[in-house]
Amino acid sequence: MVRNLISKSVAGISPSATEETSSMANKLKRQGIDIISFAQGEPDFDTPENIKEAAINAIREGFTKYTDVPGIPELRKAVADKFKRENGIDYEPDQIIICNGGKQALYEVFKTICEEGDQVLIPTPCYVSYTEQIKLTGAEPIFFKTKGENNFRPTFDEVLANITPRVKAFIINSPNNPTGSVIDKEQLKKIARLLVERGVYIITDEVYEHLVYDGMNHVSVASLGKKEKEMSITVNSLSKTYAMTGWRVGYAAGPKEIIKAMNNLQGHATGNINSIAQKAAIEALTGNQEIVRIMVKEYRKRREYMVNRLNEIKGIKCQYPDGAFYTFPNVTALYSKKYDGNIIRSDIDVAKFFLEKAHVAVVPGAAFNYLGYVRFVFAKSIEEIKEGLDRIEKAVKGLK
Ligand code: PMP
Repeated sequence: MVRNLISKSVAGISPSATEETSSMANKLKRQGIDIISFAQGEPDFDTPENIKEAAINAIREGFTKYTDVPGIPELRKAVADKFKRENGIDYEPDQIIICNGGKQALYEVFKTICEEGDQVLIPTPCYVSYTEQIKLTGAEPIFFKTKGENNFRPTFDEVLANITPRVKAFIINSPNNPTGSVIDKEQLKKIARLLVERGVYIITDEVYEHLVYDGMNHVSVASLGKKEKEMSITVNSLSKTYAMTGWRVGYAAGPKEIIKAMNNLQGHATGNINSIAQKAAIEALTGNQEIVRIMVKEYRKRREYMVNRLNEIKGIKCQYPDGAFYTFPNVTALYSKKYDGNIIRSDIDVAKFFLEKAHVAVVPGAAFNYLGYVRFVFAKSIEEIKEGLDRIEKAVKGLK
């Protein structure tokens, strides 16, 4: 019998559509070319000093051993207090599990509640990892497209039209990656009620909750009512809010039996997250929050600058994102244009063109299951944004 070396489920993971542009960007960098990257979805700020100090103290004090799998009680309590304070939700500490980033939390949620025969409904454009993580569980991700004219917010009618009897869970990601769109409370209520009535679990990815602009408010699904809380699993992370992407601290909160099962899974997969990062996370959640406000204020300025500049470039059409640090302009007006013997035919081609002719990296919409757009990150200094957009403007002017 000939056996496959790579299992079917892992062989089925698609390489990311960003791979081609990022490997091209790396190649150009190795040649000494100065690339400006609007591709990496992470804050450019350093982790605040008080958080670093807490980690240094943890090392000095020898807090370097295994901990409880779902995280130390003080951290789970700090997360429970955060839910109460910021989101108006009462979760008990045993309804909370600390994971290696929001990413592991998401994977464990999918693995715990989904299996072959189930479907998970996802509005697009969507965060790249949902699809592949769901496929790994044997369940089937299914999609519907949100509309640019609705600022990429899913509507009640779209959700209604796409629920099948096999849909076990629905993903809400507000503020959204890659569009920055935020679902307002009334719309969220209607959608959540529908899902609850249909017995569909809501997986709500709230990792960008603090990054909202123009008076938009983030509303947590589980705060909407008893049923909504019982039927939802909230995923969150310290990565974006506290500029802690490398520390790998995320968490999930939800019904006790789901969290308990995730705990069993995590116990055999990774065990607890890094003990030092747990101490840092307590400081992040309970320490002075002023730094978050300062970062958000800065992102707001950059968003304004980037969106205005993008809209001044002929062929690029951009809406103001409500939140996160992404903007997702339509680039279809650049299709059919030519440079150096190449014809632009897709968002992947636009990303390649920006990279080759402007030395600027962005992520094509194809990576988020949504064609015709590209994602720009504005978690960069105004100087870098200015330089990058000057370069793009010049390159676009040179198109034939
Ligand atoms: N969800 C979304 C929508 C994201 O954009 C990201 C990171 N880019 C994550 C989850 C996971 O982030 P982390 O694992 O760093 O918490």
